[in-house]
Amino acid sequence: MTARLIDGKARAAALRAEVAAGVAQFVATYGRAPGLTVVLVGDDPASAVYVGSKGKATREAGMISGEHRLPADTSEADLLALIARLNADPAVDGILVQMPLPAHIDSDRVIAAIDPAKDVDGLHPINTGLLVSGRDGLVPCTPSGCMLLIREAVGPVAGAEALVIGRSILVGKPMAALLTNASATVTVAHSRTRDLAAHVARADILVAAVGIPNMVQGDWIKPGACVIDVGINRVATEGGKGRLVGDVDFDSAAARAGWITPVPGGVGPMTIACLLANTLKAATARAAT
Ligand code: NAP
Repeated sequence: MTARLIDGKARAAALRAEVAAGVAQFVATYGRAPGLTVVLVGDDPASAVYVGSKGKATREAGMISGEHRLPADTSEADLLALIARLNADPAVDGILVQMPLPAHIDSDRVIAAIDPAKDVDGLHPINTGLLVSGRDGLVPCTPSGCMLLIREAVGPVAGAEALVIGRSILVGKPMAALLTNASATVTVAHSRTRDLAAHVARADILVAAVGIPNMVQGDWIKPGACVIDVGINRVATEGGKGRLVGDVDFDSAAARAGWITPVPGGVGPMTIACLLANTLKAATARAAT
């Protein structure tokens, strides 16, 4: 391995400590702690685990964690009514609706119903628009975390060739916007892209957010590149337990890249840390108005 490992766990721990210090200052100034409320509809086990760990991290940062676990047959109207109550609740600074929602609920309508000032997932069209315009707003947590890791590894990215593989509203598109705002020259690849390997070969910065295990091969990568692997894929192992791998074939990529994130322990821990940072930011902005 020639690449330096980007330690997302350590970077996330540092960010969480920064947020906890900011929360203590917020409490001293405003006499209350910031509040993050998570809404889960249905009983998807993976989502339940995510919601549990978000609640724990919120409390550890000194913030107030609220949770609403609703049955899978909750109507869209009832969910929208809950969001309206949370929007109006002065103790709630951040609202996160855990995705995916059951098929009978229109997730776009739900996201649009969240007060943009409390939209700590950064998915409301107002926040998406602010990001694309290069203005301050709430930025989706996973790409925000990737950007912190990239900056720490390579410093300023102005002029660098960046390739983002994936164009989801959650990761790929906001990642491309962040890199563009930081003056990288950005290409976005997706399932219809021709000759992905040729695009990868030009990238000084590569962000893979696809969901296909080990798709990006090490010999595609530009020597010295910074590789950020967002993918979280469970693959079968002989013992039957399975293990997590990214979208990048780690061993072959680490032999050519300059920096690389591991899976797990790379981007994953940054996502929750950035959610906490967004909640503190939302609380501070609301308290100041
Ligand atoms: P998504 O909504 O399924 O988007 C996947 C993207 O990959 C799409 O834009 C798709 O293209 C593109 N794609 C599919 N096959 C491709 C191919 N053969 N070549 C190039 N592009 C291809 O997924 P997502 O929500 O962005 O998540 C992506 C991965 O990141 C998943 O593994 C997810 O588990 C992981 N993730 C991790 C975190 C974290 O905290 N670490 C957070 C969020 C997501 P089209 O648009 O053309 O379909």
